[in-house]
Amino acid sequence: MIIICNKCKTKFNVSDNLIPPEGRMVRCSYCNAKWKQENVSETSSNLGLWIFWIITLSITFSILYLGLIIVFGNIIPIPKELFNFLIDIGIPIEGGNLFGREFDR
Ligand SMILES: [Zn+2]
Repeated sequence: MIIICNKCKTKFNVSDNLIPPEGRMVRCSYCNAKWKQENVSETSSNLGLWIFWIITLSITFSILYLGLIIVFGNIIPIPKELFNFLIDIGIPIEGGNLFGREFDR
């Protein structure tokens, strides 16, 4: 990771494993300034990437699951809360299979 001296703004390329996540005291080799350096390397960007994927996959599977319920509602187990919610928003799943089935809203 790249760290920058607070005083003279010199940039140093430091190996990631030299700075623990909780940070440590470092000293600039040019101006002798000391400061506490946090580890600002990949940990934070990896976390963002993980959150992105978790959200993306959750949304994808929710949509897939809803689609499967609408088409194969009589085969796939549906939690009672979700069942009531789907009825409330007007998705007719009581009888299961939506296609080939008469329903009126
Ligand atoms: Zn410096």
